[in-house]
Amino acid sequence: MHELSIVLSIIDEIGVESEARDLRDIEVVHLKVGVFSGVDPNALLFAWELACEGTPFERSRLDIETVPLVIHCAICGQDRTPPSLYQLCCPECETPSETIVTGRELEVVSLEVTA
Ligand SMILES: [Zn+2]
Repeated sequence: MHELSIVLSIIDEIGVESEARDLRDIEVVHLKVGVFSGVDPNALLFAWELACEGTPFERSRLDIETVPLVIHCAICGQDRTPPSLYQLCCPECETPSETIVTGRELEVVSLEVTA
């Protein structure tokens, strides 16, 4: 499962981070997931529960912020939202564009710690 390996690398990342900053009891892990990242947020949540069992993050929760797909249209000189994920073109002038502004994110934004 693709999502499980992603989750494992996130756990690695926050493990290093929480040790460096001496954080305990991480309650919420805020994650940004672009709709064009190829990652299914639901599968990610499911994988999170599995992967955290028996780790210091067992009681933590994953909070996923979905980032919409935005492309840059060179003709209009504007950032646009394409009509669909499978049609990367400008909705105004219909010019195809491969310049993705947002939508590919997959990153830990912040950690919330129990007070
Ligand atoms: Zn355009």
